[in-house]
Amino acid sequence: MDTRAAARREVFEVELLLDQDWRSQAICAKTDPDLWFSPGAVEHRQAKRICRECPVRSQCLSYAIEAPVDHGVWGGLTERERRHQRRLNRQVAS
Ligand code: SF4
Repeated sequence: MDTRAAARREVFEVELLLDQDWRSQAICAKTDPDLWFSPGAVEHRQAKRICRECPVRSQCLSYAIEAPVDHGVWGGLTERERRHQRRLNRQVAS
């Protein structure tokens, strides 16, 4: 497990202790987290495919956009896609 994945796992476990709601149902919490932090397009597609099946995708994406979380695939979106979504949200809000 690389440093980013280890850090994500650590954050996830701490947050799990604080918030058992949606994170306890996250598919990625039960699998190898490296997939969500790999830089390659193939890995992104695999992670996004799993996210599409995740029962807490919308909660995860809202969290990642609002936090904001700057790395990895969250809620089925890459970092770049979440930045784009944040820009769209700001435009709609203004
Ligand atoms: S949507 Fe994806 S990143 Fe979010 S909790 Fe589910 S599997 Fe994990």
